[in-house]
Formats: sequence, structure tokens, C-alpha cells
Amino acid sequence: MRSHEPREAMPLGFTHDVHAPRVVFGAGALDRIPEELDRLGASRVLLICTARRGDAVDRVAAALGARLAGIFDGARMHVPAEVADAALDEARRVDADLCIAVGGGSAIGVAKAVALGDGPPFIAVPTTYSGSEMTTIWGISANGLKATGRDPRVLPRTVLYEPALTLSLPPAVTAASGMNALAHCVEALYAHDGTPVSSLMAEEGIRALAANLPAAVRDGTDGEARSGALYGAWLAGGSLGAVAMGLHHRICHVLGGSFDLPHAETHAVMLPHVAAFNAPAARDAMRRAARALGSEDVAGALYDLREALGCPASLRELGMMQGQLNAAADRVMESPYPNPRQFDAEDVRALLRDAWSGRRPSSID
Ligand code: NAD
Repeated sequence: MRSHEPREAMPLGFTHDVHAPRVVFGAGALDRIPEELDRLGASRVLLICTARRGDAVDRVAAALGARLAGIFDGARMHVPAEVADAALDEARRVDADLCIAVGGGSAIGVAKAVALGDGPPFIAVPTTYSGSEMTTIWGISANGLKATGRDPRVLPRTVLYEPALTLSLPPAVTAASGMNALAHCVEALYAHDGTPVSSLMAEEGIRALAANLPAAVRDGTDGEARSGALYGAWLAGGSLGAVAMGLHHRICHVLGGSFDLPHAETHAVMLPHVAAFNAPAARDAMRRAARALGSEDVAGALYDLREALGCPASLRELGMMQGQLNAAADRVMESPYPNPRQFDAEDVRALLRDAWSGRRPSSID
């Protein structure tokens, strides 16, 4: 170790208890579908996707061949309960023994809800960077509230990461989804239940995402950047699945679930602000994040990266009204997540005000 580098804090003890799916990563992963179906003994597969089916769905459907039993294309953001019910009904109607979710967190979320409702298990073919495929976390929304929980039954049996399927991801979705993945990594670095392995994954995830997202946004067909970003997204999903998330994820769940703000863009706006707030209480995490981002000012670098990727800068741009900020802060306080820095309602209100205005935060003292 070079003398000017601060020494890494050595763990005194930890519990590493992670449920993780089988992962097949890389060009040609889709060709493995028949083999993966054989492994699972599946003969009737329900494909789950959003209404905008796209090329990825066609390619997966073709790879399923005669084992494609049906397509449910009603997946929507935040898994409305009626969508989860409709998908489960469809799985039963076509007598599916397996589902295959093709798309981002919305499609994967529906497959998770089906598995949770005693429907068939599933394979995930992620086409965004949200990371849901790597976690036991499920979410279902009803009446303006999003219920979430962890359950090993919602973990995919296999995840097929095929970078070619992400080439069509529009720049704005690439950018926001990439910031969503970064948020998993940043919060994993200061998680109360973090381990040396989850921290390695999270730091490497930040490095891969920060290095590849700008090129993937500039030129969506840049295969190397797409592959690097998807690799980062896998690590981010693994980080999210391994440890408990903090204040940032709590705020984003409230803003998405109760105020209908777009999931990934909300992460992009909030992340620099929460990083700045938590920095004084998470020195080691910030040192790792700084190393991965190549900047001492983690919050500033995250803000600048968001800017460079062209993501919205403020909650105001996402449609939040200033008059809603206090109600959102109160809701955040109803069920606060573990967080390295203690906070009260006024702290959350101040964070939301900063994010609403879109000012540039800094995590340097
Ligand atoms: P998404 O799945 O809604 O996808 C965003 C948009 O991009 C959709 O319109 C989709 O059709 C389109 N799209 C996806 N892939 C594409 C491609 N390759 N080419 C062109 N268009 C494409 O968005 P998301 O950010 O991936 O997921 C958000 C949802 O996932 C939220 O409901 C969130 O709560 C959930 N989520 C859950 C977890 C978890 O662990 N449970 C983790 C992260 C996100």
C-alpha cells in the first residue's frame, strides 16, 4: 500500500448471508435459453414484459420456440396489485410451469409478484440497470402505498444478462437506470450489515457504472460500454440484494409509491443530496466511493455525472410540487430505514428542498 493512502478499516466481524441466483453473463447468453429451460424442467413458459415489447421480447420469444405458452405484456412500474393478479391469472390460464421476465424492474417485479402468489418461478432477462433480478425484494402497490418485503421465493432461478438487449435502451432510460444502480452501490457501502464482500462488489459496481455510462448514453450501440454498464448493474443488484438500504432508498420509495414520481429518475435526482448528508457519518464508504469515482467530492461527482448523463436535476422537473415536500418528509419518517447518520423530519425536509431546487451539493467538509 502506498503511504499516502488511508488504511482500509478492517472488519471486526460480520455475517454474510446472501441469496443469489445463477447468473449467465455475456454475448450469447440468450442462446442458452433452451439449456436453461432443460435444467429447470420447464415446458410451458409465460413471457412477462411491458406493453412496449421491443426487440428483446421478440428475440426471447423466438428462443423459447414451442415452449412459449403465452405473453403477458401488462407489466407496469411499481407493480399495481391488479397487474400482479392479472399476471398470476394468466400464468394459471396457460398452465405455465415457468415465467420469463424480459425488461427492467417493472417486468421483473411482476414475475416476482407471481412467484410470491404461489405461481411459477421465473428466469430474468434484464434489459435495464435497475438490479431487481439480483434481489429477494418484492414490491406491490395499492391505494397509493407500496408494500415491500424480502422473500427468497421471488429470486429468479437464473438471470441471463445479454448486453445486446440493452443496445435499444434509450439514452434517458440508460442514464436514469444507471443512476439507480449507482444508488444501490453507494448505499451498500455504508450499510449497517455490509461485509467485506458486499463492499468490494459495490465499489467495483460504482467504478464500472461511472466508467461506462457516459459512453453508453452517448452511443447506445457501443457494445463495450453496454457490456461494462451491465456488468456494473449486476454488481449493483448484488449489492442491493446483499445488504439493507438506507435513507436514500426510503425517500425514493416514498416519492415513487406515494407521489407517483418516476422511479429511476427520482434516484438520479436524490442520490447526490443523500450522499452529501450521509458523508460525515460514513467516512470509509465515501473513501471507497471517491476511489471508484475518481473524485474526493463524492456528492459533487455524482451530481456532475447525473448532469453529464442528461438526467433531470430536480424534483421540480419530475413534477413534484413544493407544497408536497412536507407531506413526503412526514411519510419518510413513518418507517425510517437504517442509516449511518441519524435524521429527523427537518433533515428530510431540508434534503427534499435541496433536491427540489436541484442545487449542486458537496460532500467535502
Ligand atoms: P422499467 O422496467 O419500468 O423500464 C423503463 C422503460 O424502459 C419501460 O418503458 C420499458 O418498457 C423500457 N425498456 C426497458 N428495457 C428496454 C430496452 N432494452 N430497450 C428499450 N426500452 C426498454 O424501469 P426500471 O427502472 O428498470 O424498473 C423500475 C421498477 O423496478 C420500479 O417499480 C422499481 O420499484 C423496481 N425495482 C425493484 C427492485 C427490487 O429489488 N425489487 C430494484 C430496482 C427497481
